[in-house]
Amino acid sequence: MRLPAIASAPIAQWIEYEFAELGIEVRFLLGALAMAGGDLVIQVRFLAGAIMIDLKTPLSQFPTVKTALCRRLNYLGLKTAQDLLFYLPFRYDDLRASAPIAQVRPGMRLTVRGRLQLIANKRSVYRRRLLTEAVVADETGQLKVIWFNQPYLMKVLNVGDQLALAGKVEQDKFGLAMISPIFEKEKRGVDLVHTGRLVPFYPTTEGLTQKHLRFLIKQSLPALEFVKEWLPPFILKKYSLLDLPTTLAAIHFPPDEEKSKQAQERLKFGELFLLQLRNELTRQELRQSRAPVIQFKEKETKDFVSQLPFQLTTDQRRAAWEILQDLPKGQPMNRLLDGDVGSGKTLVAALAIYNAILNGYQAVLMAPTEILAMQHSETMTKLFKDQSLTICLLTSGSKTKKEIIGLIKKGDINLIIGTHALLEEKVQFKNLGLAIVDEQHRFGVKQRQTLAKKSGEPDFLPHFLSLTATPIPRSLSLACYGDLDLSLIKEMPKERKKIMTRLVEEINRPKAYEFVRQQVKTGRQVFVICPLIEDKEQGTINKEQERKSVLAEYKKLSEEIFPDLRVNYLHGRMKSQDKEKIMKDFLEKRFDILVSTSVVEVGVDIPNASVMMIEGAERFGLAQLHQFRGRVGRSASQSYCLLFTNTFTLGELAKQRLSYFVASRDGFELAEKDLELRGPGEVFGASQHGFPELKIATLGDIELIKKSREAAKEVLDQDRGLRWLPALKQQLVQWTRGVHLE
Ligand code: ADP
Ligand code: MG
Repeated sequence: MRLPAIASAPIAQWIEYEFAELGIEVRFLLGALAMAGGDLVIQVRFLAGAIMIDLKTPLSQFPTVKTALCRRLNYLGLKTAQDLLFYLPFRYDDLRASAPIAQVRPGMRLTVRGRLQLIANKRSVYRRRLLTEAVVADETGQLKVIWFNQPYLMKVLNVGDQLALAGKVEQDKFGLAMISPIFEKEKRGVDLVHTGRLVPFYPTTEGLTQKHLRFLIKQSLPALEFVKEWLPPFILKKYSLLDLPTTLAAIHFPPDEEKSKQAQERLKFGELFLLQLRNELTRQELRQSRAPVIQFKEKETKDFVSQLPFQLTTDQRRAAWEILQDLPKGQPMNRLLDGDVGSGKTLVAALAIYNAILNGYQAVLMAPTEILAMQHSETMTKLFKDQSLTICLLTSGSKTKKEIIGLIKKGDINLIIGTHALLEEKVQFKNLGLAIVDEQHRFGVKQRQTLAKKSGEPDFLPHFLSLTATPIPRSLSLACYGDLDLSLIKEMPKERKKIMTRLVEEINRPKAYEFVRQQVKTGRQVFVICPLIEDKEQGTINKEQERKSVLAEYKKLSEEIFPDLRVNYLHGRMKSQDKEKIMKDFLEKRFDILVSTSVVEVGVDIPNASVMMIEGAERFGLAQLHQFRGRVGRSASQSYCLLFTNTFTLGELAKQRLSYFVASRDGFELAEKDLELRGPGEVFGASQHGFPELKIATLGDIELIKKSREAAKEVLDQDRGLRWLPALKQQLVQWTRGVHLE
C-alpha cells in the first residue's frame, strides 16, 4: 500500500531520471515497483535520500543492484559503498569540449547540450539496422542524432528532455549528424556524470557498463563523510596534500585537471608512505635486535680465495667486504646482493658462509626450487672440499630427512642447504648465525620470525642476506627496498663472452633452425621459451594456455623440425618432481632441446646450453628477457640469444624495445629502460611485474618516493609524529592485507 505514494511525484521523477541514465525502461520499472514491494521500496527510499548510506552499506541495497549484478560486483571485489569509493579509475576521457549547435562542424568530437525535439525509430533501408533518429536544439540551431540498434531509447528519452550528448559529428548527404553519442539527461543542480566533463573509466567485467559503475559510485559519494583521514595533519600540511575524502571525490569526478592531478598524487603518496614506513620500522626493529658477532677471519678467507681457479672481480670483492663488515656488528645484517645472472653471487655468499662457520655458527642457504638447492649443494661441496665442513641438503623429498634434522639440531652440520622445507617446524638449529635466500627479493617478516625461533639462540636474530639477479633500478630500491642495505655486482667475470643477440625475421626462421641443429651437432644444448600468455580480463598469467603452447611447440619441434634431435618440455602445470627430473636430465645431457615456459627463469645453471630461443619475445619485459638470456653464456664459449616475435608486423614501440634489448647487455640499464618505455599512459600504474606492492604509484614517481621517505622518517623521529604511530601501524596492517589501497 505504500507503493503508490512513493511512486508519485516528486520521487518518481527522480527515479525516472536516474534509471534513464542507465538506459533502463522506466515504465517497466515503475510497474515492477508496484508489484515487488519490500526490497524495491527500500531502494526507492534510498534513491530519494531517505536511507543514509555509510561505508558498510552493502551494494545489494543499492538501486538497480540485483543478484546477478551483485555477483559481478563481487567479482571485482566490490561489496560495500566503501569498496566503491576506493575503486579507482584507470583513465579519464576528456569530454569537456563543447559548442553551441550553430558552431558544430563535421569531424568534431564534443559534448552538445540541447532540448530533445523529436525522436523516432526507423528501419534502415541499406543495412537493415534499426535506427533511432532524434533532433536536439539549442538557441542557435538544431542537430540530428542517430543511434543504432537501441530501440529502447524511444522509451527512455522524451521530447522536451534537456540532454547532454557526447560523441562525434559526421556529415552525410542529409546534413550534419551526431552518431551514437553517449547521452545523459540534464537536471538542474545535478552535475553531469558521463558527458561534458573529465569522465572516469574503471576496470570492469562483462555485464557491467561504465555508466552503471559510475552511477553506483555516484550514489556512494555521500558516504565520503565517514571516510577517515589517516595521514597525520602535519604531514598533509607540509606536503600540501588533499585530505582523503576530497581526494576520493576528485578521483572519481574531478572538476578539472589540476584537482585530478592533486588527487592522484595524494593516493600515490599514501601508498609510498606506507611502504616507506614499513621499511623504516623494519630497520628500527633490526637495529634494536641483537645478532651473533661474526669476526672477519682474514687469513683463512684469503687462503680460501687464493686457491680458487680464478680471481675475484672488483665488484665481488667490494660486495664481500661490505658483508664482512656487517657481520661483526652485533646487529642483524639485512642486505640484498644484487648482481646480474652469472656475475658470481654464489661465491660472495660462500665467503660469508665460510666466515660464519669459522666463528662457530651454522649457516643456511635457502633456494626457491629443489633443483636450485641441489645445484647449490654441489657447488658448495666443491668449493669447500678442502675445508673440513659438513654440508647437507634438506628438501621435502630428502630420504634421510629425519636423520639430517637430528644432525642439524646437534650442531653436527655447518651448512644447511635446502628449500622452504627448512622453515618447517621440525627443523631446529643449534646456533644459526647466517641465513641466505637465493633468487627471492627479500626475507619476509614471517620468514624472519620463523628462522629466529629455530635459530637455537633465543636472544639473537641471524644475519640475513638475499641474493637476486633482478636488476633493481634506483627508483625501485628507494621505493621498495629501503629496509635493506644494497650491494651491487655490475661487472661480469672477465673471460665471459658477450652473448650474441639477434631479432630473427620470420623469413629467416629456417636458417635459425639450421643454426640450432649445428649447435646441437657440436654437442651444445638449446632452450626454447614459449610466449607469455596473459588472461586479459584478470591480468594474470594463464597457465593452462601456456601449457598448451608449450605442448604445441614441442610437437612441432620434435616431429617436424628436429625429428633427429632429442626434444623435451617443461611447463608450470607439471608436478615439481617432474620438473626437477627434466632439469636434471637436461643438466646431464640426456636431451638436446628444452621447450619451456618462463619457469626456467629462476637461476638454474646449465653451462652447456649455448642457444636461447625466445618465441613471442615482444610479450616479455626487457628485464625478463635479460633473465632468459642469462641462462646461456655460462661458460667460456660463445652463446646466442635468438628472438622471435609472434606478430608479423611489430608495433613501433615493441620494435624499439626489442632493438634496445639486442644492443644492451646491462641488466640495470634494461630495467630502467623498461620503466621508461612503459610510459605515463595510464593514470595508475598497471601491474608492475614482480612488484605487487605498488598498486597506484609507479617507479617513475621519483620525487614522490623521496618525499614519502622523508615523511616516514619524520613520523618516526619526531614527538608529534610518534603520537600517530599506533594508528599508522594499524593502517599498515590493513594495507599489507590488501583490504584497501588507503
Ligand atoms: P650468479 O650470480 O648468477 O648466481 P654464479 O655465482 O652461479 O652466478 O656464478 C656463475 C659462474 O661463474 C660459476 O660457474 C662461477 O664459478 C663462475 N665465477 C664466479 N666468479 C667468477 C670470477 N671472478 N671469475 C670467473 N668465473 C667466476
Ligand atoms: Mg645464482
